[in-house]
Amino acid sequence: MTLTKTLAGLAAGTLLSTTAAFAQAYPERQITMVVPFSAGGPTDTVGRLIAERMSADLGQQIIVENVGGAGGTLGAGQVAGAEADGYTILLHHIGMATSPTLYRNLAFNPLEAFEYVGLVTEVPMTIVARKDLEPTDFPGLVAYVKENADTITMANAGIGAASHLCGMLFMQALDAPIVTVPYKGTGPAMTELLGGQIDLMCDQTTNTTEQIKGGTIKAYAVTTPARLAVFPDLPTVSEGGMPGMEVSVWHGLYAPKGTPADVVERLSASLQSALADPGIAEKLGELGTAPSPAADATPAGLKAKLEAEIARWKPVIETAGVYAD
Ligand code: ASP
Repeated sequence: MTLTKTLAGLAAGTLLSTTAAFAQAYPERQITMVVPFSAGGPTDTVGRLIAERMSADLGQQIIVENVGGAGGTLGAGQVAGAEADGYTILLHHIGMATSPTLYRNLAFNPLEAFEYVGLVTEVPMTIVARKDLEPTDFPGLVAYVKENADTITMANAGIGAASHLCGMLFMQALDAPIVTVPYKGTGPAMTELLGGQIDLMCDQTTNTTEQIKGGTIKAYAVTTPARLAVFPDLPTVSEGGMPGMEVSVWHGLYAPKGTPADVVERLSASLQSALADPGIAEKLGELGTAPSPAADATPAGLKAKLEAEIARWKPVIETAGVYAD
């Protein structure tokens, strides 16, 4: 063996053992999980739930940082540009798949800017209103919205948010544009719905279940193909005459592109163990959903989902012709 080859071999060996030692030691300090919406909303709820269990598993605290705005693209962009060392991660949702079509000038490419950790959960949506809105059922709501399209207000978390996507499908089906009011997340939008300052919203059950059950807001339909066990009396949008507007909100966990593979694996294993925790399944069940199956809570599972969802929503958004820019 030549001296050059020997030196190269030694250098490679050092690199390998350094990488392995890094992964073994990881995490050595607090991790930041960016949630690209306001505190108190559904993405935040899911984020805090898994952050707590993953912190216990990893032996280091995962702190949630809410970076709301522009339908989740601000927070996602922040993580796309963060150091790829495993100490900044991102809990996002379906907006990762809709934003590359909705934002024609998006500063990052969702398919290239991240390492995939795994799918977390898939959450149904509900069409809800302030509790004193007149209509008593979904067909009644449809007629009411058509008659009052210029005065009724619908909240969303900005273009690219799940609430925006659901509202867009609703307006498409009604063929009536409604006045939309954007927030940095549907946590603050829910506060305004409860206060009666806003009329309508479409949001995840992780944000609406307690209020629907408590009677503090009115629910008209669920956006899933079948009724939900938590609301057996609530019809589906198909039953209400809108079969085209089924949508559910999947959440995925990401790290910036270039995060070492061993670190991504460690995060993914930690996510899987959090999702296997019966306490998490129970809490998500109470909120109308369930943890993603272990096979999907993997880098490959999330990558496949993101690719399929970008392809699914691109033509829908292009047909609607609604863009953020
Ligand atoms: N539910 C929100 C959305 O419409 C986001 C959130 O606050 O979690 O995308």
